[in-house]
Amino acid sequence: KVIYNEESTKSIGNDLRKVAVQPIVNYSNISKSYGDLQVLRNIDLDIAPGEKVALIGPSGSGKTTLARLLMTLEEPTSGTIEVDGEMLWHQKTNGKLVKANEKHLHKVRGNIGMVFQHFNLFPHMTILRNVMEAPRNVLGLSKEEAMERAVTMLKQVGLANKIDAYPAQLSGGQKQRVAIARALVMRPKVMIFDEPTSALDPELVGEVLEVIKAIAAEGEMAMLLITHEMDFARDVADRILFFDQGRIIEQGSPKRIFNNPESERLQTFLSRFN
Ligand code: ADP
Repeated sequence: KVIYNEESTKSIGNDLRKVAVQPIVNYSNISKSYGDLQVLRNIDLDIAPGEKVALIGPSGSGKTTLARLLMTLEEPTSGTIEVDGEMLWHQKTNGKLVKANEKHLHKVRGNIGMVFQHFNLFPHMTILRNVMEAPRNVLGLSKEEAMERAVTMLKQVGLANKIDAYPAQLSGGQKQRVAIARALVMRPKVMIFDEPTSALDPELVGEVLEVIKAIAAEGEMAMLLITHEMDFARDVADRILFFDQGRIIEQGSPKRIFNNPESERLQTFLSRFN
């Protein structure tokens, strides 16, 4: 499976040639049901390395489930998912669903970072320790290396002056920025943000969105952004996917989606934000 992105189009004399790029994430014919409730219906989605994709759509349309499948927090009912060319689940031709072994899953998960609505910091650890924990225990870095990485990340999210504080001493926006640093410190190839500001007081939303925008502008990491902040999605995303009832109803550039929504469902959805 190959996809093409404009950046990789190389000019050779007058000859414009498209160069194939392997997607960093590939969902192929993914469906998911909880009992009788079908939450995702035959989803096909490729995300290019470095691409920023925003998922918008009504509550309950399956956006979080799609992200959780990538984190292996849920199993698909059918279909195939690959991260960086490595299989998480594979649907065989006989219909049987095969899951990668634990060692393999561990490796694939290491390429993915996730920030949720609720930050779940360790309350008994300082901010610095919270961010150092995974590099120490999962990557096996030395204390010095882990600390250096953690401090760099905390600076990037604007919290260098809080490294010795405990989570309870921080505002919700600051805590969420720690959660972002904690995910980024692992240097994932894909970052998932699942409504990172929806649990915050309105006056704290902006600082968190600004941090995410700055990270996005650095470019290298692919991002899957689930958000109800339409202005943010428009600013950050290369591509917007509109979800409804477990399907991708419409997708395109922010300009196309917001200025020229085609389907009635998307028009109705967007009218709520005006
Ligand atoms: P969204 O992120 O778009 O709000 P979700 O993916 O969270 O949508 O949920 C899609 C649907 O799946 C909802 O109807 C939700 O209630 C249902 N759902 C999610 N998780 C579970 C679960 N663990 N068990 C049963 N139903 C679930």
